[in-house]
Amino acid sequence: LTQLFRPLDMLGMVYRTVRQGLIDMAEMFKLMDTPVEVADAPGAPALDMRRPTIVFDKVRFGYDKDREILHGLTFAVEAGERVAIVGPSGAGKSTIARLLFRFYDPQGGRILVSGKDIRSVTQDSLRRHIGIVPQDSVLFNDTIGYNIAYGREGALRGEIEAAAKGAAIADFIERLPGGYETQVGERGLKLSGGEKQRVAIARTLLKNPEIILFDEATSALDTRTEQDILTTMRAVARNRTTLSIAHRLSTVVDADRILVLDQGRLAESGSHADLLRHGGLYAEMWARQANEVEDEADRGELDPVA
Ligand code: ATP
Repeated sequence: LTQLFRPLDMLGMVYRTVRQGLIDMAEMFKLMDTPVEVADAPGAPALDMRRPTIVFDKVRFGYDKDREILHGLTFAVEAGERVAIVGPSGAGKSTIARLLFRFYDPQGGRILVSGKDIRSVTQDSLRRHIGIVPQDSVLFNDTIGYNIAYGREGALRGEIEAAAKGAAIADFIERLPGGYETQVGERGLKLSGGEKQRVAIARTLLKNPEIILFDEATSALDTRTEQDILTTMRAVARNRTTLSIAHRLSTVVDADRILVLDQGRLAESGSHADLLRHGGLYAEMWARQANEVEDEADRGELDPVA
């Protein structure tokens, strides 16, 4: 009977992981020997990443046939640009990330990376060039060093330490009694949300991809940790193309461009200042959020260090 339930268990785990955020699914499926939903085109070449650009061209997508989530979405991200996606809950922000990583194929339109339709290249090569920092990283019950090294097979100790430094978690690790050999995860040291996200950033740095997808934590981090992580991400974003999924507006103010998604459509796009001037959905969301912060401050709920 356990034989029967194990695959179901696994499926449940995959489903939860995909829902929770985006872990490196290519690795995950490899680990579990489970076939993926999308297949490589026969004889597909590897992605040749000449310019790390992203284009969504009239993309239509729904998880179920009778409920479309993205209704012909079009936008482009230039090489080296730092773009944030904002929008009400359920607007389709995380769906964009899942499509870009090719967990699913769109039902209409196309997605180009470096000018190539991502359906025409191998998934492996696509995922090699795109790093994901998920909201909630999965840690293995192993050492913290192993958890970082998971970003790239065969990484050397010096490279792991450099990645930890880049993710601003090296000092923390060096202060642990076991250093990089410290056991973490369920049976070891429990890391905070912010620390876990730093491990994910270090993994991504080790992988050194040209494009980074950053799915910001929704609520796990206090304001100060969030700001620290953002500072780290800004440094990591230098010389790379980054697409951030922002659940809070406070984190997007200095993005090169903000895409405002509303019910699967691009409602507005521009810098923070542009969008405030425009006086549309973003300006409305900004005003509402400012009010919420004030209310929290009145109730004394705001983090005192913010
Ligand atoms: P949030 O800010 O709350 O994370 P979001 O903008 O990232 O929201 P998505 O996660 O992209 O929104 O979800 C868009 C829509 O797709 C939602 O209505 C959601 O219920 C639906 N959806 C998301 N994942 C799945 C799935 N695996 N199967 C079916 N429907 C899904």
